[in-house]
Parts: sequence; C-alpha cells; structure tokens
Amino acid sequence: MSSEKKELILEVKDLHTYFYDKDDIIWKILDGVNLKIFKGETLGILGPSGSGKSVLTRSILRLVKFPGKIEKGQVLFKGKDLLTIDEEIFNKIRGKEISLVLQNAPSSIDPTRDMTFATSQPYREHSDEELVRSEIKLLVVSQLGKVALPEPTKTSDKYAHELSGGESQRVKIASAVINNPTLLIADEPVANLDATIARQILNLLQEMKEKFKLTMILIAHNLGILAELSDKIAILYAGKILEYSDVDTIFYHPKHPFTQGLFYATPSIAPRGRLKPIPGKEPDPRSLPTGCRFHPRCEYAIEKCKSELPELEEYKEGHFVACWRVKEIPAYEKE
Ligand code: SF4
Repeated sequence: MSSEKKELILEVKDLHTYFYDKDDIIWKILDGVNLKIFKGETLGILGPSGSGKSVLTRSILRLVKFPGKIEKGQVLFKGKDLLTIDEEIFNKIRGKEISLVLQNAPSSIDPTRDMTFATSQPYREHSDEELVRSEIKLLVVSQLGKVALPEPTKTSDKYAHELSGGESQRVKIASAVINNPTLLIADEPVANLDATIARQILNLLQEMKEKFKLTMILIAHNLGILAELSDKIAILYAGKILEYSDVDTIFYHPKHPFTQGLFYATPSIAPRGRLKPIPGKEPDPRSLPTGCRFHPRCEYAIEKCKSELPELEEYKEGHFVACWRVKEIPAYEKE
C-alpha cells in the first residue's frame, strides 16, 4: 500500500525557527522544513551537530524559548496546527498524545523523587482518575516491567542516583508510553550510552513501538542506528531537508552527495578500507552559504549551486532530493 493512503499523523510545513543573538544576528536553525509522518511509521531524522535536529523536536512541541522564535510554518497533528492552538489545549496533547524521550535521562529525572513519582508524572498530569499512591505504584510497577527493568517493584522505590544510565533511560521510556501516546519522539535516545546498553535501548524502542502501535520520530546522528529502526529517513543539513525516502532507498540508492558522503564517513557502515570523512565542516547558521548549503563541501558543485538554492523535489515516487545535479538526471537513467 502506498504511504499516501495511510493516515497522516504529523505534517510539518515550511517550518522556520530562528534564533537571535545579542547583536540581532539571525541564526537560521530551521529554514523551511517539510515532513510527513504516517500512522505506525518510524521516521528517522539524521543530521550532523547543528543541523537543527533538536530544535525541530522543540518546535514540534512548541518548546522553543527566547531568543528562539518560530517565524513561520505549520505543525499539523491529526490536522490541528499545534503552533496556533491554545496553550491549554496543547498541554493536553503534550505528554499524552505526543511524548518525548531525550538523551541524558539521569539528568532529566528529579533527584529528590522516587521512580514511582518519575514514571507516573505524565499519567498524573493527564488522568481524570484520582488514584491513591498504592494504585499508582501498581501501575508504575507494571509499566517498569514492560520496559524489562529487573525487579520493577524495587526499582519503583529507587532514586535517580541509584540507577545506571541504561536503567534511567528505560524509566523515561516507561514514563513516555504510560499514556499510550499516538506519537513518540525519541531525540538521540542512545547518545552517551555504551554500545551494549545502546543496543538494548534500541531493541526496547522497537518493542515498545510494536506493543503500543506507536508512530515514532527517531532523531540521531548515526545512519546505522536509524537504518535499523526507521521506515523512512530524512536527512537534515543546515536547517533544510536534503533527502527523504524509505530506508532501503536511502541506504541502497542515496542520491544527494551529502547522503552518499555519509556512507563513507560512518565507520559502522563504510565499505571496508574506504572510510573517508566529508571535507570541510557544517556551515555557520549565522552566515549560511548562498545557493545550495552543501556547495562548499560538494565535489560535484557547478556554478548554479553557488547562487541558487535547490528545493526538495520528487526524484522518483516517494524519493525526494534537493540537488541541482540530481534534478538533471534524465528519466531513463533513474534507478
Ligand atoms: S546542488 Fe550542487 S552543490 Fe548542492 S549537493 Fe547538488 S551538486 Fe552538490
């Protein structure tokens, strides 16, 4: 079935989020982002540091604070624009219908409260039921069991400093799915975890996705991680989506020179003996290059790339690329 026939859960349209420094210089962190996420899918968003990944999460959840500002665009969740609805209505969506798991779980857990409190927080905020402590505890123990924490009853009495990084991340996942959300956003959920624990957390996210029939946005800077869990992948670079398609197409037929470069620059997936970093560095959001944002680093750049910005266009069905060179590939040569 084509993805166009599936239920559209979230659509980000022409989203611009800028930050302003003390000299009123504009940092164009998101500069016209468009995305669609369909029910039951996992959309992986890949981007280098400073590409705008985390600002995208905060923009979707309307958590951008001064000196940042969402300048324009729409974030349509089941057809409602999250950027314009009343704060009171949004508070009923955030943490209930849309949940967030961040990196560095231990630092985001209140050190003075136990795991019963930490895990049940979104439930208590959104439920109309008045549960007593013993009922909440039962709910939490069941939830901690679902994320495979050993001895969930004992864990529910513990404090953040008594848990490892992996255990804390499991608690945050248990808490994020306690209200059975429609959409889970996992922003770098395995950053700072060692490889074995990271693998366990990724497996857990996959299990949770299936168990709770979640739609998920998974943000990471590692293509290998995203390829395993995502149905579709969007490549974000300097505030723009450069390429977007299903995971197999991105993995086996990448078209954008930046995406192609990532394969040779990622140790876990680069062909043996051909590891090669992408030359140069990510552009400064205060002075973005004219034309294609990737042109100073692109070996295929032509004159036009330096002055005209290529928009994301459909290269083949469901495969979108923003690149002048790709636009010129004749139809009979498209693989
Ligand atoms: S538009 Fe030009 S500079 Fe940009 S990726 Fe394509 S070929 Fe390279």
